[in-house]
Parts: sequence; structure tokens; C-alpha cells
Amino acid sequence: MAERKGLKNRGYGEEDAEDRRIAVEEFTGVRFDHIQRCGFDYPAASKNIENMIGVTQIPLGFAGPIRINGDHARGEFLVPLATTEGALVASVSRGMSVISKSGGASVRVFGDAMTRAPVFRVRDLAHCAQVMDWVDSNEAALKKTVESTTSHGKLVRIEKFPDGRSLFLRLSFSTGDAMGMNMATIASEAICREIEKETGAVMVSVSGNMCSDKKPAAINLIEGRGKTAVAEARIPKETVEKSLHATSAAISETNMRKNLVGSALSGTLGSNAHAANMAAALYIATGQDPAQIVGCSMAMTSCEDLDGDLYISVRVPAIEVGTVGGGTRLPFQREALEMIGCLGEGKARKLAEIVAATILAGELSTLAAQAAGQLGSAHASLGRR
Ligand code: NAP
Repeated sequence: MAERKGLKNRGYGEEDAEDRRIAVEEFTGVRFDHIQRCGFDYPAASKNIENMIGVTQIPLGFAGPIRINGDHARGEFLVPLATTEGALVASVSRGMSVISKSGGASVRVFGDAMTRAPVFRVRDLAHCAQVMDWVDSNEAALKKTVESTTSHGKLVRIEKFPDGRSLFLRLSFSTGDAMGMNMATIASEAICREIEKETGAVMVSVSGNMCSDKKPAAINLIEGRGKTAVAEARIPKETVEKSLHATSAAISETNMRKNLVGSALSGTLGSNAHAANMAAALYIATGQDPAQIVGCSMAMTSCEDLDGDLYISVRVPAIEVGTVGGGTRLPFQREALEMIGCLGEGKARKLAEIVAATILAGELSTLAAQAAGQLGSAHASLGRR
């Protein structure tokens, strides 16, 4: 049957995609008018997807300019955001404009390591302790094992979590400019083979969920994963009142009752208004793995009224981004990275600082809108035309 042949085609060329698309049309009874309009050569995505039949396009806009005073991101930036949420780009832009008028966002990256946490089955507690001792005594050799699998990745830390007949090792790697999940996984498997051979422990999974990838997890909130960054700004009293139509006291109270008390009461990991919104739009625009937005969703937003000025900061515990590898190979995503000077080698921390500053701008604008009672009306006028 023609449809079955097409569905089984695993090729990466344009004709292979066409073959599959026709089979999908026959299977589903749906005629495609749009998804075949791919703006790049199909083989360019050969490392990013299987069974490709076309593209889904997401509107791309820019927010900014925003002035960022980071260690790596310095100057003014127009930030690419891909979203279908009306009002998001306008709101982030408003936050950026207020931050820039106030001298900019200061940003620092305080942690930078990607984690993988294999889980081993051990015989009993005594065996568990032996395995842990072996790991401690052989860390230098394990570092060398890692370096045989990657030229950019380095093992920087091993944390051990024994639990009955399970032993978890949380392995932290520096991964250069790559987000590092493939790199860390390949390196972790090599380490695990060594441990199995030398200790008799059995690796049950290379990912024992203490990594923790693509799930909200307190360990990442506390220790960080990928890049941990903090961004701050001080908005003068007059600018708060004139541009945000609110007061620092009202914005700080909104942050305290909503982001701190409300998040604690609901058991939320992190305490922010909508950090995932800015991360999602920026990640999708720049070819990051969108499932890792969860790391940014645990951001903590703090506000203080400093004699009428508004101090605002965000701590973003897990910015899992790269400027090489993964989705950054794709042409549209490369152009978006170029917009912020973040394509390629030496740019990953700069991108993390831009992510943190963009989250700061979105938090500022939304908190101010809620303090001024404007959130619903902004969405009604911008998102429901
Ligand atoms: P990758 O594209 O698999 O690897 C990065 C590559 O870039 C490596 O081959 C590395 O070489 C090379 N490279 C060149 N210049 C580099 C530089 N300056 N810094 C770092 N590396 C450089 O990307 P990845 O970041 O490891 O993994 C990202 C992908 O993993 C995404 O597609 C994501 O969706 C996916 N992912 C995988 C898992 C998993 O469990 N495997 C989980 C979540 C996401 P060397 O290694 O030789 O240094």
C-alpha cells in the first residue's frame, strides 16, 4: 500500500518528506496547504527530527531594545521572541523600555554546569559504601574517561546519593557553548561502564531523575542546572509612576502576596509571575530545547521599595541553553541568535544573561500591570482583536 510505504520512509531529503506527507494525507484525509512550505533545505534538520513532513511556523517578533550590563552581554539588544500569545511581546518591550531608561539590567552568571544522574543497583549498604569509596578514589580517572568522549566537556563534580539498594551519582559537567545534554549523557554512559566493570554495581538507568531534566525539581532550584543567573534593576520613583502607572510599594506588595505567599501556598517551585513565558518565546526563537523552559519556570522574583524607587531582581536557577549544537544548527534559529550576537563559540553565557534580563523585563511589566489593575485590559486590547 502506497500510504504504508510513505509512512515507513526514513529518508531526510525533500522527496522523502513529500512521500511521507502524501502518505499522511491519505492516512488522515487532511490536505495540507501550509506545512510543506519549508523555508530551508530538509536535510538541514536531519539531526533535529525524524519523520519530517514540513514545518510549523510560529510568529517571531522582537522586544526591546534593552540595555544589559552583564559580564558577557553588554550594550543594547533587540531580543527575538517567538510566540502566539498576543500582548506578551508588547509587555516585555514595556519592561525593557523602563529598565533601559533606568540604566539597564545588571546580570551575572553564578553557576554553569550540566548534570546527568545515573542510578545504580548495588547489593546492599556495604556494597553501596564500597562503590562510593571507589568513585571518590578514582575521580581523576573518571575525568579522563569523560575527556575521551568529548573535546569540550569536562567532569567538574560528582555528588553521591545512596538510598537502600539504589545509588545515585549526580554528575556535573562543564559543556563549553553547548547546552550539553547529549554530551553529558554520552560521557555519563562511559563513566557508568567503568564503574560497573570495577565495582560490580549495575547501571539501571543513565538518567535516574536526580539530574533532573525537563521536570521541575527542588535540586535544580537549589543547586542550579545549566546556567544559574541573577538579573536586577533599580527603577527610579518617577519612572515607576510615569511609565508603569503604579508605585514601588504597590508593585512590591503584589510581588509579596502573589509571587511569595501565593506560590508558597500553592506549593509552586519558584516564585514568579510568568518567567516561563519569556523563556519559551526566546528558547523557541533561538533553537533551544523548549522542554527545558521548566528550569526557568522556577525563577524567583524579588521586589523592594527603596525610598520610592523599585528594586527588582530575578534569580533564574536553570537556564539550559547553548549557542552550538541542538536546534541552533537550524537556519531561522541561527539568524535569531545572530540578532543578539549569540551564535557559536564563546556565546553561551551571554545568551544566558540575555535570557535572565528578558525574564526580568517580563516580570517587571506584568507585576506593574497587576499592581495597576491593568492585566485583563491589556490582554483584551492586544490579545483579542
Ligand atoms: P550536541 O549537538 O549533541 O553536541 C554539541 C556538539 O558541538 C558536540 O559534538 C561538540 O563537540 C561540538 N562543539 C563544537 N564547538 C563547541 C563548543 N564551543 N562548545 C561545546 N561543544 C562544541 O548538543 P548538546 O548540547 O550536547 O545536546 C543538545 C541536544 O540534546 C538538543 O538537541 C536537545 O534537544 C537534546 N537533548 C538530549 C537529551 C539526552 O538525554 N541525550 C536530553 C535533553 C535534550 P565535542 O563533544 O567533541 O566537544
